[in-house]
Amino acid sequence: MTDTIPRRRERFASIVTVARQHEAREQVLAHPGDVALVERGTVRAAVFQCPCGCGDVLVINLDPAAGSAWRHRVDGEQLTLMPSVWRDSGCDSHFVLWRNEIYWCGVTEEDIDVRSWPATLRAELKGWWQAWQRRRRGST
Ligand SMILES: [Zn+2]
Repeated sequence: MTDTIPRRRERFASIVTVARQHEAREQVLAHPGDVALVERGTVRAAVFQCPCGCGDVLVINLDPAAGSAWRHRVDGEQLTLMPSVWRDSGCDSHFVLWRNEIYWCGVTEEDIDVRSWPATLRAELKGWWQAWQRRRRGST
């Protein structure tokens, strides 16, 4: 029997920059360890294979002009997206991409073992968590 449990990715190996979204898709399908940034004048999107191993290609909007967008930062060769990515379809994965590393989240803050996360990441996320919880309380 073959191993059917998807292997969760712990980190991305490298970032490549391309001009078009279809190039980004081709890049990450050929090189699953890559994140492709789509850049034409400004950075438009981050494209990568879902780190859960489900095989879906995720397109994360980084351009506020194109709708609700994630903030991103590139430190050297390392990409950070804020806030977390929470899929509302497919595998429902919820994770933070921080300096190319994947930090897996749960459904509630209590599910997450943040004690094992770097202090600098926790500090960066703290303001976002508070805003998220306020939104959640407001919407239920
Ligand atoms: Zn997935």
